[in-house]
Amino acid sequence: LFISFEGIDGSGKSTQVGLLADHLRARGREVVVTREPGGSAGAEEIRALVLQGDPDRWSAETELLLFTAARRDHLERLIRPALAAGKIVICDRFADSTRMYQGLSRGDLRATVDQLHDLMIGVEPDLTLLIDMDPAAGLARAKARKGIEERFEDFGTDLQTAMRAGFLALAQEFADRFTVIDGARTVEAVTADVVAAVDRKLT
Ligand code: C5P
Repeated sequence: LFISFEGIDGSGKSTQVGLLADHLRARGREVVVTREPGGSAGAEEIRALVLQGDPDRWSAETELLLFTAARRDHLERLIRPALAAGKIVICDRFADSTRMYQGLSRGDLRATVDQLHDLMIGVEPDLTLLIDMDPAAGLARAKARKGIEERFEDFGTDLQTAMRAGFLALAQEFADRFTVIDGARTVEAVTADVVAAVDRKLT
């Protein structure tokens, strides 16, 4: 089973990834937790290239190619082998983040994103959990976290608002695999919904 988490910065998805993994392992499942961009050695190197340093180093198109290259490596080296071994893979962001961030944030590249996805990736998660969150609250959380990836967290509330709407639209577009979860509640309440959605897939 391949599960992805999506949501705007600060939506709390990383916390939920960890809690879902704990829950599944406690029930005897073999779980691989991973993230994008990154997740394999090569993809982590590409992550550093795109998330650190001068934000204008790459054009929007080059950045899309780098994210796609990272995903391809991640898929080949980690995701496919883990799924083939019968493990549950939980990925913190996957191709839907590229449909949003590379597809929308620096111009409209969505058609190109989809073409590259078909050509080089070709798989979608079995289940995508969208942790939906008010952008102002999400941004406050993201800024409180600060780090080397700060530049990506400085999108501002307008862009975050567009991203939130974009993710909700994606959830409609891919309604067969998306579950939208209200992230503006206690961690425990969100986890309960996450676990319920995963259990529905497992049974
Ligand atoms: O999920 P996480 O917060 O670790 O993502 C790191 C940063 O990379 C985020 O701020 C996100 O906006 C950005 N990102 C991106 N394009 C992606 C995935 C993540 O710009 N496809």
